[in-house]
Amino acid sequence: MWGIYSSIMAAFNRKRKCPKCGKVNIIRIENKDNTVKCRNCGKDLPSSSPRV
Ligand SMILES: [Zn+2]
Repeated sequence: MWGIYSSIMAAFNRKRKCPKCGKVNIIRIENKDNTVKCRNCGKDLPSSSPRV
């Protein structure tokens, strides 16, 4: 069951790695196409940032 749960969570969450500090930020699905700020250093993370 955990695998199913993980799949669901993966579908609703996107990870975006900060190019500045390397922090992996969890992006909510509604923000997946928006630029968000790194929770660690505040750098803008555009939607084109590398996914993890
Ligand atoms: Zn950062």
